[in-house]
Amino acid sequence: MNLSKHCDLEINGQHCNLPATVLGLSASAPEMWASGSASVASFCSAEHAELEPRPTREQAENGWADVADASGGEQYIAADAADAWTRLLSACPAPVPLTT
Ligand SMILES: [Zn+2]
Repeated sequence: MNLSKHCDLEINGQHCNLPATVLGLSASAPEMWASGSASVASFCSAEHAELEPRPTREQAENGWADVADASGGEQYIAADAADAWTRLLSACPAPVPLTT
């Protein structure tokens, strides 16, 4: 499970695909970490992160719990993915830089 290196925003059915610079929570399910309630997506800019439907904090927390469940526990989640979720949940609903 890796973070996408390209923008996940879909515009008119096509991915933006510019190089990613920020991570954001998404209420829709891009390619990765899809769960019933929320997922993490990569975006080329804060502007594109703003265009993505946002989950509520509760949905985001449920999304993280679902990902942990599906992985067999938080300890089994890739470090970059766990770090992304942790940072996004603290900043919720704001996007965060792709790298720390
Ligand atoms: Zn973009």
